[in-house]
Amino acid sequence: MDGGIAIGRVLGIRVYLHPTWFVVFFLVTITLSSALGQEHAEWSGTLRTLLAGGTAALFFCAIFLHELGHSLLALRHGVGVRSITLFIFGGVAVMEKEPATPRAEFEIAIAGPIVSALLALAFTWLAGAAGADTPVGSMLGWLSWINFILAAFNLLPGFPLDGGRILRALLWARSRDFQRATRVAANVGQWIAYGFIGLGAAQVLFYGNLVGGLWQAFIGWFLLSASGATVRQAAIEHSLAGLLARDVMNPDVPRVQAGISVGSFARDLVMRGRRWALVEEAGRTAGLITLSDVKRVDPEQWETTPVGRVATPIEAVVTATPTQPVREVLTAIGAKNVNQIPVVEDGTVLGAVTRDTLVRAIELRGGGLP
Ligand SMILES: [Zn+2]
Repeated sequence: MDGGIAIGRVLGIRVYLHPTWFVVFFLVTITLSSALGQEHAEWSGTLRTLLAGGTAALFFCAIFLHELGHSLLALRHGVGVRSITLFIFGGVAVMEKEPATPRAEFEIAIAGPIVSALLALAFTWLAGAAGADTPVGSMLGWLSWINFILAAFNLLPGFPLDGGRILRALLWARSRDFQRATRVAANVGQWIAYGFIGLGAAQVLFYGNLVGGLWQAFIGWFLLSASGATVRQAAIEHSLAGLLARDVMNPDVPRVQAGISVGSFARDLVMRGRRWALVEEAGRTAGLITLSDVKRVDPEQWETTPVGRVATPIEAVVTATPTQPVREVLTAIGAKNVNQIPVVEDGTVLGAVTRDTLVRAIELRGGGLP
């Protein structure tokens, strides 16, 4: 769930609205406005639409605050947060890595439902103060109810829900086996997903509730695919267990001289089907150049710009040591969003771990593919 419309930055975290968000905003507004119409036929259509739209907007603010709760605790535990995206099923905060300890995982996971529960209490109090039969009071009453549902739903103990992370933290603390705890929480997540799909089907078949039933089944399907991804990820990490960077690295590393032009480098790259190379200067490795560095250079300057000028200096390149576990290298590739990590010992590049070499290692170990 990456991307969408960028709406700003909070604490250095990019915030996005996914296109599916507008579908929910529209549905919530229509549903609320028609419900208000049944309860309060005396209120004008404009008033009802404004109230419903305002409530839908506040609903998404509440989901954003839930994600911000996770993010604040993540930052406190040294886990970087790349983005928060609001989409059709709520929100998602994308973190750069898994928490280091069960305690960190527990605190990050429970922060979201705590925020939602506090919001439910606050809205209940505000609704009481405004008066339940007033337009503003009925809006606040719905917000209190939906935040309570949000807290309860997210506490269901299966991945990818917060409750699944809490379950993993508890199992992890007891067994000290992160992979095993992940597999159990993801499997419970699969059962919860099947439960939602079954419940949705029953709603449609036995109660004729088409919209509500389809919605539940849709949520189940989403949970199924998300927990399935976690199950596969866990299988991959399992298959990489015990491997070190030097076991999977490719020693055949492409190298170019810093003085050659970007143009001749680009042509050579295409000829040999490469996407990157180390840049050599005066007998030592000075940097790393990739296809995206080339794309940043104006094509008219290609023949006059040496690759040394646009390459990333070696000090700024993410590298690994030969004895570093492959799992860590895999995490770094994902977190830094790079395609290759040079393996360096005493200032000498011995080889590189790339996405391709990882895929090959996983295939050889018999794990599933990502
Ligand atoms: Zn959450």
